[in-house]
Amino acid sequence: MLRDKEEPKPSISFIEQFIADDLKDGKNGGKILTRFPPEPNGYLHIGHAKAICLDFGMALKYGGKCNLRFDDTNPEKEDVEYVDSIKEDIGWLGFSWDDREYYASDYFGKLFDFAVDLIKRGLAYVDDQPADIISEQKGTPTRPGVESPYIKRSVAENLDLFERMNKGEFEEGSRVLRARIDMTSPNMHMRDPIIYRIIKTPHHRTGNTWMVYPMYDFAHGQSDYFEGITHSLCTLEFEVHRPLYDWFIDQLKTDDYRPRQIEFNRLNLTYTMMSKRKLLELVNEGKVNGWDDPRMPTLCGLRRRGYTPESIRRFVDLIGYTKVEAINDVSLLEHAIREDLNVRAPRVMGVLNPLKIIITNYPEGQVEYVELINNPEDENMGKRLVPFSREVYIEQDDFMENPPNKYFRLGPGMEVRLKGAYIIKCTGVRKNDSTGAIEEVYCTYDAETRSGGNLSDKKVKGTLHWVSAQHSVDAEVRLYDRLFNHEDPAGQKDDDYRDFLNPDSLKILTGCKIEPSLAAARPLEKYQFQRLGYFCVDYDSTESRLVFNRTLSLKDTWAKINK
Ligand code: ATP
Ligand code: MG
Repeated sequence: MLRDKEEPKPSISFIEQFIADDLKDGKNGGKILTRFPPEPNGYLHIGHAKAICLDFGMALKYGGKCNLRFDDTNPEKEDVEYVDSIKEDIGWLGFSWDDREYYASDYFGKLFDFAVDLIKRGLAYVDDQPADIISEQKGTPTRPGVESPYIKRSVAENLDLFERMNKGEFEEGSRVLRARIDMTSPNMHMRDPIIYRIIKTPHHRTGNTWMVYPMYDFAHGQSDYFEGITHSLCTLEFEVHRPLYDWFIDQLKTDDYRPRQIEFNRLNLTYTMMSKRKLLELVNEGKVNGWDDPRMPTLCGLRRRGYTPESIRRFVDLIGYTKVEAINDVSLLEHAIREDLNVRAPRVMGVLNPLKIIITNYPEGQVEYVELINNPEDENMGKRLVPFSREVYIEQDDFMENPPNKYFRLGPGMEVRLKGAYIIKCTGVRKNDSTGAIEEVYCTYDAETRSGGNLSDKKVKGTLHWVSAQHSVDAEVRLYDRLFNHEDPAGQKDDDYRDFLNPDSLKILTGCKIEPSLAAARPLEKYQFQRLGYFCVDYDSTESRLVFNRTLSLKDTWAKINK
């Protein structure tokens, strides 16, 4: 263990080093302005959290700001539902863009003018060829492309056609606008990339104003430039786009200022996948119950599952930012939430599979209140009184009629402590006449053994959680397991990711018995059910019917299984 004094110096990521150096050199007037640029075509997932923590985190740390910019250049896939959810999720993670909420569509006018300017300078042309021919002519990384027959179109004709494309005179796919760069460039993205295409679907913000829409590459860097972004942080797949990003900025810039693109590795997690397109398929095909299904890697899914923003930020901090693609072990994320909930979640007692215990020598009608600590990790969370009575529920698997050696729970003739209450001894059972299932267990208690009492230090091997039958509240409990049973479900060439869906990823228990202090629990409240795990109140919960989601068990059972 490191002692305080020996704590290693916090190491900073290569990105932070770039930023720190730029600031030290007085670049951009010593200012930092970043942006988070989601496309509103799905809900945010934990991969996005990694980008958000960097974009907002760097700005915060170095006294700058971070813009939220919706990259809404494709009306066919985008929707305000996604815009709203993205805003909610970023706020929940703990970051604020204040009033700096921008849209690439805010710049459609400027981008159109820039495209016209490129045409006038002989740097863009309208191509009438179909997509497959254009792509064929692009060549391959080892074979140079060939020029389009339309490359020599006159400026006047290009201007006329581009204007008419935007008036809706031509069919989708019949013409595109391309930048004229270099068909022999070793970088495929520089081979006269398409910068505008015809789309006639109305846009969720600009309606029918536009019939041509900029490609991502033509919108992104320029939007950075228009906003005065200093550091444009994005994932590694954009590294090969950077020369094009810089080329557009070169055509646009009027002074020394230019945004700087820096790439880092994406977050990939075992037993899940991050593609918004595939996550949308899971939702549309009913494989999960919506974007916020607690099995989804979306931020709203994780929230509903019981994850805290702190745990997600902590996890992102632990994995860091590098230039190397990797897949992170989901157990590290689970570690982060366990650590956080350990200090945050009040301990309570809940019985998932109830078995009734009747304490035959306990006076009928008597109720005692035992005092229990809410959280041994945090004294300030105080104590509570829990009712105890003649009939209590324990967990079915805490009783065995013919227990093996070293079974330290309840069985005929055996003694256990009911947590915070008494030691009880099993004297018999009653079985169902036809099925033989155990329906009730009879016990006696020793009044001297109440916790804190005379014989409270009497030794027994097991301590069980319990709930007073007459005081308990009923609950539904949803037990979640990994959505996929393959480490990399979307990365298998010959198999569809759906083949790896875990058929046991959701188990619903009803008739669970919970201690009465939870009767008024509100959605998203988090508890540790003692000995069982962490649980979070679901949105479906009502006063007459509590519903809990299991966030995760107390220990990592998968690590054991895989050993
Ligand atoms: P998808 O390809 O699944 O649609 P995307 O990356 O295109 O996802 P965007 O909405 O464009 O989704 O992403 C917004 C920002 O979040 C981008 O800067 C992107 O680089 C970043 N991002 C997306 N996925 C990840 C990830 N898994 N890890 C880190 N950053 C990510
Ligand atoms: Mg994208």
